Amino acid sequence: MNEITIGTTLQVYDSIEELSTDIKDLMNKAIEARENAYAPYSKFNVGAALQLDNNEVIIGSNQENASYPSGLCAERTAIYYSGAKYPKAKILKMAISASSQNQVTDKPIPPCGSCRQAIAEYEIKQKQPIEIYFMGAKGKVVKSESLANLLPLLFDNSVL
Ligand SMILES: [Zn+2]
Repeated sequence: MNEITIGTTLQVYDSIEELSTDIKDLMNKAIEARENAYAPYSKFNVGAALQLDNNEVIIGSNQENASYPSGLCAERTAIYYSGAKYPKAKILKMAISASSQNQVTDKPIPPCGSCRQAIAEYEIKQKQPIEIYFMGAKGKVVKSESLANLLPLLFDNSVL
């Protein structure tokens, strides 16, 4: 038996103010999308904004449903919309902001496991990493250079 250790390195910014102007603008679009989320059940609003290589920005927010599993997270709403609208464009960056309607969300909120798998598919498809920035409603912002950093031992199409 051998052990393996899997590590990852992320960058942490103290606040949105520490981000470069282009990332700050993208995060502000995620925040705007977050405010329009349809989250009557979880009361947890999430917004995502994607910067594409064709200069377009695609936004998404969580869309919930009385039949809970029928709802969809902000990240997948955005990434599937991007895939549908600009199938040939590469996704360069993704900004995510999350905010509870019940309490102050001051911790960075990463994408859920299902969204990580979905984002990974597009990273593999485009053969280029997607930079991911995530935050709560305020406070620190975490940057990952690639989705792969957030999903070790990724299940991909090479095994099919
Ligand atoms: Zn998700």
